[in-house]
Amino acid sequence: MGIQHTGEHHAGMGTTAVHGGERSPGPDGSVVFPVYYGTVYAVEDGTDYHDIKYHRLSSSPSQAYLHDKLAALEGAEAAVATASGMAAITTTLLSLMRAGDHLLATGSLYGGTMDFLTQHAGDLGWSFDFVSDDRRDWERRRTGNTKVFLTETMTNPLLQVPDLEAIVDFSRSTGITSVIDNTFASPVNFRPLGLGFDLVCHSATKYLGGHSDVVAGAVLGSAERVGNVRHTLNHFGGSLDPHTGYLLARGIKTLAVRVAAHNANAGQIADFLAAHTAVREVNYPGLPTHPAHARAAKLFDGFGGMLSFRLSDGETAGALIRAVTIPAAAPSLGGVESLITQPAKTSHAGMAPADREQRGITDELIRLSVGIEDAADLIADLGQALAAATA
Ligand code: PLP
Repeated sequence: MGIQHTGEHHAGMGTTAVHGGERSPGPDGSVVFPVYYGTVYAVEDGTDYHDIKYHRLSSSPSQAYLHDKLAALEGAEAAVATASGMAAITTTLLSLMRAGDHLLATGSLYGGTMDFLTQHAGDLGWSFDFVSDDRRDWERRRTGNTKVFLTETMTNPLLQVPDLEAIVDFSRSTGITSVIDNTFASPVNFRPLGLGFDLVCHSATKYLGGHSDVVAGAVLGSAERVGNVRHTLNHFGGSLDPHTGYLLARGIKTLAVRVAAHNANAGQIADFLAAHTAVREVNYPGLPTHPAHARAAKLFDGFGGMLSFRLSDGETAGALIRAVTIPAAAPSLGGVESLITQPAKTSHAGMAPADREQRGITDELIRLSVGIEDAADLIADLGQALAAATA
């Protein structure tokens, strides 16, 4: 739908982002798919309950359009939009796990995902293990009831890249469903279904929406797997409203150009920081010094807009954040504007200090979501802020 493939030629990401899922012609000839605010639609004879056109059932015309657009981005058979990234992740797990089941999860997932597991899995009758990047560890911890392997494309805030090929291979050979949160990479930089992952989750709040004005999520995969997620979503109620869905589809149209700019800016800033005497360490998979650089270069089309770096101590890190003038001091990520934060004091503040220490999420660590401002301006700003913070 929307894009014509001619012969062997496949549309690129720019074309897919603009035209994927679009109706041509749209209703009444509209070039932009309209927002259908009506919550419910006349029922045709023989319609299944789950296919009644109703917003909470994620089946209204605006939602169907958005699902086609989301699916096109990663070459998925199907997609479903959710009310937030957390709704995407929790509903996916709820669709796959039953009481008594076990889950393997990469040890440094997004804090909200870790909190969901640590605070709710037990009540649901699930057990889980946070695992290292070592396949022997997965083998040791796998039980007869292990149903899901949950990972992320790049971890937050240290930008580690798990051994994604091994996770796919291990999951396939053991009959486990592999689920990946691809928020940090975005479909422009990585399309996990192509590598063999079963389901992909996104916080569409980040790069997909792209303007820090939308909270949404998405789940992508085969029609059967996404159908199960959608049925679960129908019961738990985390569907996406059509106006937010419209803003999301609008954001997606510029995804390719935005992510190209994020990638280019972050690469230049990583080089600048790596060469700066006040910076002790830079975590960016695009740097040849990154432990998983070769893996990232093989799997990804770009290294993303997220990076983190260490200064000498927490006070200097705080001073830098106060001294920058372009990035806003705020968590979240993936918008056109740069955002800077001290993860130990924001996204990971809820974690026990000893856990933070063990994971290297200490006060001197700064995370930067690099926006699409001019790289030269961002570098000049970081340069003056580093000088002020270390004076
Ligand atoms: N996954 C990742 C990697 C995130 O960074 C976030 C939010 O920061 C989420 C999921 C949750 O997304 P949302 O805030 O849209 O629920």
